[in-house]
Amino acid sequence: MNDLSLKQDDPRSTAFPAGQAGGILTIDLAALIANWRLLRDRAAPAECAAVVKADAYGLGIAPAVRALAKAGCRTFFVAHLSEGVAARAAVPGATIYVLNGLLPGTAPAYRDAGLRPILGSLEEIVEWGGFCRNAGRRLPAAIHFDTGMNRLGLRPEEAQEIAASADLADFEPALVMSHFVSSEEPDNPINARQIEAFGGVRTAFAHAPASLCNSSGIFLAEKPHLDLVRPGYALYGGNPTPGGANPMRPVVRLEAPIIQLRTAEDGETVGYNAQWTARGRRRLATIPVGYADGYPRAASATEAKREARRDAGAAIVRGRRCPFAGRVSMDLLAIDVTEVPEGAVGRGDLVTLIGDDLTIDEVARRADTIGYEVLTSLGRRYARRYVGGET
Ligand SMILES: *Cc1c(COP(=O)(O)O)cnc(C)c1O
Repeated sequence: MNDLSLKQDDPRSTAFPAGQAGGILTIDLAALIANWRLLRDRAAPAECAAVVKADAYGLGIAPAVRALAKAGCRTFFVAHLSEGVAARAAVPGATIYVLNGLLPGTAPAYRDAGLRPILGSLEEIVEWGGFCRNAGRRLPAAIHFDTGMNRLGLRPEEAQEIAASADLADFEPALVMSHFVSSEEPDNPINARQIEAFGGVRTAFAHAPASLCNSSGIFLAEKPHLDLVRPGYALYGGNPTPGGANPMRPVVRLEAPIIQLRTAEDGETVGYNAQWTARGRRRLATIPVGYADGYPRAASATEAKREARRDAGAAIVRGRRCPFAGRVSMDLLAIDVTEVPEGAVGRGDLVTLIGDDLTIDEVARRADTIGYEVLTSLGRRYARRYVGGET
């Protein structure tokens, strides 16, 4: 268990020894690949892309896209142009789409990096079309239709008119897409409404490949896989079917060493603002992880949370789930380890914050958030170890 002298055997891992960091984050690239294959097989014959925005949901965009490309993934989605440039450096031959599309004047940067914008308004279509006309090249782009989210995208009613417009002759509409509002709720009638609305778009763009599914969409009974699916969360181990068992393998493991064991007497409080009071004598373990590491402060064990009967954060210590005690501070948090036999746990031992059967979905629930936020907040100052990859 005590593994602070970890050999940093992978060149992508952080250079400093694990014992010099607060938490230790282990990213299992073999599990990432297994998850991509499971989704690919489930969506076949549709192509399975990978959404790697937000630094591959916090896991590291370069190692993630390299591992996925090696496994056979050919198409990647990022949110920002800068993320596309980073992905391009890691996978020179892949197709890369940028979800947030074309900001004014950015077309040359797309061309230079070989990236495809996802065009979500008529202005963007006109700008990309004009750029391609001047460049004398029909460069590829995707077109986004909004079927219910009301964030980005053209309205489905506009599909016919746009498909016939002159600007479309100037570039290659390589993909038409839309995005689910609530695909993790399979019984929500909005799924069927979106599938139907997108059907009209596909009729208008009969020659362009079509894409609708995020992770949870792939598991809908309607199987709206179309030509290409775009999973993100499930690749990284999140449960795409929250009502049932998680078919994905965990990819992320977060551990931290105990830096001090102490005892709080009955009635003493723990942490900032004295939000937790010991009922009887409690044994506490302090670990060097806090909200500055991206661990959610909302996982704090406070009186308010206890009164509302909502679970606060927890860690696994010697095989037992132990609850937090008091507020998560910037760089530290306390765990109530009274239930772990005295002598079974010592200074320097590692506790598990994510991993074993403490999933990112459970960590999120205990912090009143979603696993997506837990992943994308994973801190920069953890010692990072990549395992399970070939290079
Ligand atoms: C983030 C995103 C995805 C991936 O969604 P997951 O739920 O993480 O699988 C797919 N498509 C679009 C448009 C997105 O913004």
